[in-house]
Amino acid sequence: MRKKLAAGNWKMNGLQSSLGEIAALAELIGQPNCDVLLCTPATLINSAAQVADKSAINIGAQDCHANETGAHTGEISADMIVDAGGKYVILGHSERRADHRESDACVRDKTRAAWAAGLTAIVCVGETLEQREASNTLDIIGGQLATSIPDKATAETLVVAYEPVWAIGTGLTPTLDQIGEVHDFIRARLERRFGEGVGRSVRVLYGGSMNPKNAAEIATVSNVDGGLVGGASLKAADFAQIVDALS
Ligand code: PEP
Repeated sequence: MRKKLAAGNWKMNGLQSSLGEIAALAELIGQPNCDVLLCTPATLINSAAQVADKSAINIGAQDCHANETGAHTGEISADMIVDAGGKYVILGHSERRADHRESDACVRDKTRAAWAAGLTAIVCVGETLEQREASNTLDIIGGQLATSIPDKATAETLVVAYEPVWAIGTGLTPTLDQIGEVHDFIRARLERRFGEGVGRSVRVLYGGSMNPKNAAEIATVSNVDGGLVGGASLKAADFAQIVDALS
C-alpha cells in the first residue's frame, strides 16, 4: 500500500516572513495519514526545516546541480540541500525544462546527484497541449521516463510527478479518465523497467491546478498517489485542506 504524498512547490515565492505559513500548516494538519512536503526556494530551506522540525512537514528543494561541487556560480548542490535540512528535490519541472532548456539527460544526471546525496528525487514528466492534441501524450511521457530516470530507482529514492504542462498554473485540469490513463501508463512503465516490487511501490503524483476543491476527487483515480501542488501550497489554510483530502 503506497502512502500518499502531498507535496507543495513554492516556486519563486516566499520570504522569511512566509515561514509563519509553515508553522500554521503544522498546527492545522497535526499528524495526517499522508506524507507532507514543502519545496521552498533555496534561501528558505534551512529556516523552513527548523520551523518544521518535529512536525509532519518535510522540507525539500526545487532543483539541484548534477555535480557535487565546483565552479558553477549561482547553483546549489544536492549535498547543500541535505546540509540545509532538505529531504527531497523536485527535478525536471516543466518550468525548468522550458526556462533553462533542461533535457531528459540533464534531469537524469541531476537525479543521480540527488540520490548520491541521500535525497528523494521527484522527477516531473508531462506533455504540452500541442503534444496532447497531436495524440502524442504517452509517447512523450514514455520517452521522458526512460531517459530522465536513472537505473536502480527504489520507492525511497524516486517519486514521479505527472504534470501536464497545460494544466500548471492555468486552472485547467485533465478529466479523471485522462489522468488515470497516464498514471496507469507510468505504473506499467515503472514495473516493466524496475520490476514489479519497485514498480508498484514508487509513488506517482498528479500535478497541475490541484486545489482544495478537486484534490479528493483526483486522489480517487487509480495510481494517483498524491499531488504536486503549486499555487495552492502557498497558504496554509488551502494546503491543509489538500493534505486532508489526501489523508
Ligand atoms: C507546479 O508548479 O508543479 C504546479 C502543479 O503548479 P499549480 O498547482 O499552480 O498548477
